[in-house]
Order: sequence, then structure tokens, then C-alpha cells
Amino acid sequence: MQIIAIYPGTFDPITNGHIDIIARAAKLYHRVIVAVAVNNNKAPLFSLDERVALVQAVTTEFANVNVIGFSTLLVEFAKQQGANVILRGLRAVSDFEYEFQLAGMNRRLSPDLETMFLTPAEQYEFISSTMIREIARLKGDVSSFVPPIVGNALTEKFKQE
Ligand code: ADP
Repeated sequence: MQIIAIYPGTFDPITNGHIDIIARAAKLYHRVIVAVAVNNNKAPLFSLDERVALVQAVTTEFANVNVIGFSTLLVEFAKQQGANVILRGLRAVSDFEYEFQLAGMNRRLSPDLETMFLTPAEQYEFISSTMIREIARLKGDVSSFVPPIVGNALTEKFKQE
């Protein structure tokens, strides 16, 4: 049986923490689909196309990883893609409550789809896209938290402000 994992998120932008999770998943599952959510209610800094392009650019080394944008209900999108696992990353205790609720809701919506959690290497535990955007907005150095191409995209974004 082919195990296909779908890793959904906003990826606004993708960080070394996300990439750590993708690298671990690529070893565990036959295929990993990184599903980039439109997520209009979060008013993302990067457009969906920009976020997809950045995720694609930093995951080329993983032969079994695909990147797709989506704007529908996650469980429906997962079904369409033939995924049997929803993958989420867990950082500190603070992620737990929200992730637990999300996993429970997705199970009610689609009982056959299992949610699985991976934790990143220690040095990535405190990285969040929100913090990265804030540091970049204030012209701080984000080079140890994101790949160079993402760092450049952030610099460009905030040049326009
Ligand atoms: P969302 O808006 O769906 O939370 P994010 O892009 O913020 O989208 O996160 C996508 C997933 O990646 C979530 O499960 C989140 O907990 C996880 N994640 C985010 N940052 C990290 C990190 N530094 N290490 C491990 N997992 C992370």
C-alpha cells in the first residue's frame, strides 16, 4: 500500500522548521504533498503563487515531494490527491491545543484520514513564519531561520514598504 502524506500549511513563508519536517516525512512516506493553503483569513504577506514557488524552490532535492496550492476543504483536497495521512508539525506545548482540535475536527469530517505529528530538530523548535516576517519587516537578520532564496524574497517584499 502506498502511503501518501499531505502536509498542509500557510507557509508564509516556508522556514527551516518546515523543511526539517518535510525532510523527515520524505524518508517515511512514499510520497509527500506539501499543500499550500490560500488562507485568506490570515491575509498572507506572500501571494499563493509566491508561497508555492518558494516551497518548490527549496524542496527540489526531495524526489518524492510535490507542492500544490489549494483553496478547498483540506479533507476533500486530501481525498482528491489520494492521501491517507495528514501531516502536521508540533513545536512546543503551545501548538498542541490547536493541533489537537484540528486533528479531531478532520477525523470527524473524514474518519479514514489519519493525522500524524512530527517534531523538528531542537534548533528549529522556536521558528515560526510569523516571527520571521516580523524580524524581516524590522530589517533583522533571518539568514539562520530560512533558506537564502526566502531571505531574499523577504528583503524584496519589505523594500516595497
Ligand atoms: P498553519 O497556518 O496551517 O498553521 P504554518 O505554515 O504556520 O500553517 O504551519 C504549517 C505546519 O507546520 C503546522 O503544523 C505547524 O505547526 C508546523 N510548523 C511551523 N513551524 C514549524 C517549525 N519551526 N517546526 C516544526 N513544525 C512547524
